[in-house]
Amino acid sequence: MTEKVKEEEQFNKSFEYLKVKLEGGKDSFGKLMKEIVDTGICTKCSACVGTCDVLVWDLATDRPKLVGKCTGCGICYNQCPRTFTSLSDIIGSFKVAYTAQSLNEKIKGQDGGVVTALLAYGLSEGLLDCAIVTKKDKEKLWYPVPTIVTNLDDLYDSAGSVYIHSQTVNKLMEAIRAGYHSIGFVGTPCNVDAVAKMQESTTGMLHAFMRTNILNIGLFCMESFTYEGLTDFLKANGSNWDEVVKCTIERGQFVFHLKPELGKDNIARKVHTLVRYAESSCSYCGDLTSENADISVGSIGSAAGWSTVLVRNNKGYQYLIDAAEKGWIKLEPLANKKINLLKNIAKRKKQSIYKKPERKTVIFITKVATGEPKKITPAGKEDIIAAAKRKLVKLTKSKAIPAEKIYKVDVINSSGQTLDNVKIKISNHKDLTEIETWEYEIPIWYPFEELSFEVPWTDPQSEFLVELNDQKGLMLSRGAKLEKLLAPKE
Ligand SMILES: Cc1cc2nc3c(=O)[nH]c(=O)nc-3n(C[C@H](O)[C@H](O)[C@H](O)COP(=O)(O)OP(=O)(O)OC[C@H]3O[C@@H](n4cnc5c(N)ncnc54)[C@H](O)[C@@H]3O)c2cc1C
Ligand code: SF4
Ligand code: SF4
Ligand code: SF4
Repeated sequence: MTEKVKEEEQFNKSFEYLKVKLEGGKDSFGKLMKEIVDTGICTKCSACVGTCDVLVWDLATDRPKLVGKCTGCGICYNQCPRTFTSLSDIIGSFKVAYTAQSLNEKIKGQDGGVVTALLAYGLSEGLLDCAIVTKKDKEKLWYPVPTIVTNLDDLYDSAGSVYIHSQTVNKLMEAIRAGYHSIGFVGTPCNVDAVAKMQESTTGMLHAFMRTNILNIGLFCMESFTYEGLTDFLKANGSNWDEVVKCTIERGQFVFHLKPELGKDNIARKVHTLVRYAESSCSYCGDLTSENADISVGSIGSAAGWSTVLVRNNKGYQYLIDAAEKGWIKLEPLANKKINLLKNIAKRKKQSIYKKPERKTVIFITKVATGEPKKITPAGKEDIIAAAKRKLVKLTKSKAIPAEKIYKVDVINSSGQTLDNVKIKISNHKDLTEIETWEYEIPIWYPFEELSFEVPWTDPQSEFLVELNDQKGLMLSRGAKLEKLLAPKE
């Protein structure tokens, strides 16, 4: 057997081995297309086509294409440099995961009160000289105030979350300058990253940390909000910070808990609807679980009144186990399915690293003076097949709004390149006889920019036809019956 044949056999064997190992997983080519290719994240490295017999590079669309039966083995997905596939890629490395609760009644924590209990243990045992926590301002209500605490009463007053950036690292430096040598630090993942960088960087503040031991307690964090934004939001909803006793983010809902004596309903909104009040930096952040902390704490994965704890190193482990042995906290192992839940949520955040701020432009277009009503001629079958092959643009929404008698259509440039001089034509017609037609030329259309068009209608029995063309011809042709769009969803 020649060396070459031997090598090829070895390669095929390892491919087969991987295939059997991954077979049955859900990481199929469809998932690769949905998460990486269709979203514009693909680097065109060709690793997927290079590792699968039924994938080729489609020169027409400049993307991978399936030319045989996909077994769903998952190799292409797992091989792609832009997917997050291992647990440690997604939530960082950790030694052990718990669900935990404070055993001290004085601690009124955000979830299990574990962060405060851990710091209380450290201060009581003389392991920590002070802790850097975040309190709420007494005058500018709910404004986060990073604070150095050295006694338990002050510490207990700092429990609970403020979903607003807190400048904890500046306070940590103040504590170091004041001569504290063993400090418990609590921060969001971005805060923890700043400390970790200082602890490691020879070109930064390393000298300050030579004399100081830090216990880095990182919080889980999906995003934080601006103080001004949340203040405006409360005002728009007939409330203010004086009425708020607690803020929580649970199961995708941001809830402002109001003082019970007011007899008002709490204000609850889906977190994604508050995105305009979120800090812009958070849309570039991929760390949900404070991967650089010694101990990470959050609520995802635990029951109400408990906290999820990831212990990342020996220092964190020793500290946590000792706090449990001294009766400050109760620990239970975190079930695998809860770790999986955390992994799935963290993965969504990881992928946001690649997500450009989405551009969405709403365009109101003017009617074309068409004169006498004429027959409209939808694109022929061959043109539609040719356009589908080019796969340049996609229709993402086709919707009728009955109250305003508006037809709304959203299209996205999914070609991965900037498109010039694209013409969109929207015709409202009945029995192919034109009622009204609108036209608009998109002079420059950026990759993955979504455009939204709105046009009016009067006859609910009529239909719409949306067509997009560039210099090379038809890009998209789609019809929509108003009757169907207006029918109640089952
Ligand atoms: C901005 C933000 C976003 C979060 N998002 C999530 C999330 O998406 N999913 C999730 O599971 N958990 C999230 N958390 C963490 C969660 O709210 C709890 O802090 C965590 O579960 C610990 O609860 P506990 O009862 O053990 O902590 P506690 O004993 O109540 O202690 C909380 C500690 O956090 C400190 N703190 C409060 N606000 C801030 C702040 N802005 N910056 C730094 N430190 C602060 C407090 O001073 C206190 O030391 C977030 C926290 C913050 C601050
Ligand atoms: S058979 Fe090919 S396309 Fe399908 S999941 Fe496996 S590697 Fe991907
Ligand atoms: S492996 Fe991933 S990044 Fe590379 S070409 Fe395939 S989909 Fe694109
Ligand atoms: S989402 Fe990231 S950047 Fe935003 S507060 Fe949380 S850790 Fe910091």
